[in-house]
Amino acid sequence: SSYEYIISACLCGEKCRYDGKEFTLEQAKELIDNGKALIICPEVLGGMSVPRPPCEIVGDKVINIDKEDKTDNFKVGAIKVLEIANKYGIKKAILKEKSPSCGSKFIYDGSFNKKLIPGEGITTSLLRKNGIHVISDEDYIK
Ligand code: SF4
Repeated sequence: SSYEYIISACLCGEKCRYDGKEFTLEQAKELIDNGKALIICPEVLGGMSVPRPPCEIVGDKVINIDKEDKTDNFKVGAIKVLEIANKYGIKKAILKEKSPSCGSKFIYDGSFNKKLIPGEGITTSLLRKNGIHVISDEDYIK
């Protein structure tokens, strides 16, 4: 295939974020329009609805703000994204920073107080372990 990247769907105008908000990066749209990127949302692939309560990583689990354990959804979503990348031979990903799935440099600290710490999301971690280069959207748009 000609796909070079997988890219977080919420960067491309898809309403898949926990809060249902959408935004579009011009650069992301360009990649899609040129057939260079495949859009994915690990949380939707993992069976989560839109909107949904926000989740944060706490230790080796992912918990939502109502204290429900959503770890399995995040793991299933990550595996599905990896399978898609492998199926198309894609070796690079542009993912949304700060997300508990897609973050690649920073995530929230698990206190739901909007406090960032260095870290990576569940999907980013699995992709990196499997040799896929994950780029933060914040670096890509520079
Ligand atoms: Fe989906 Fe990742 Fe965007 Fe969250 S950051 S809405 S998991 S694509």
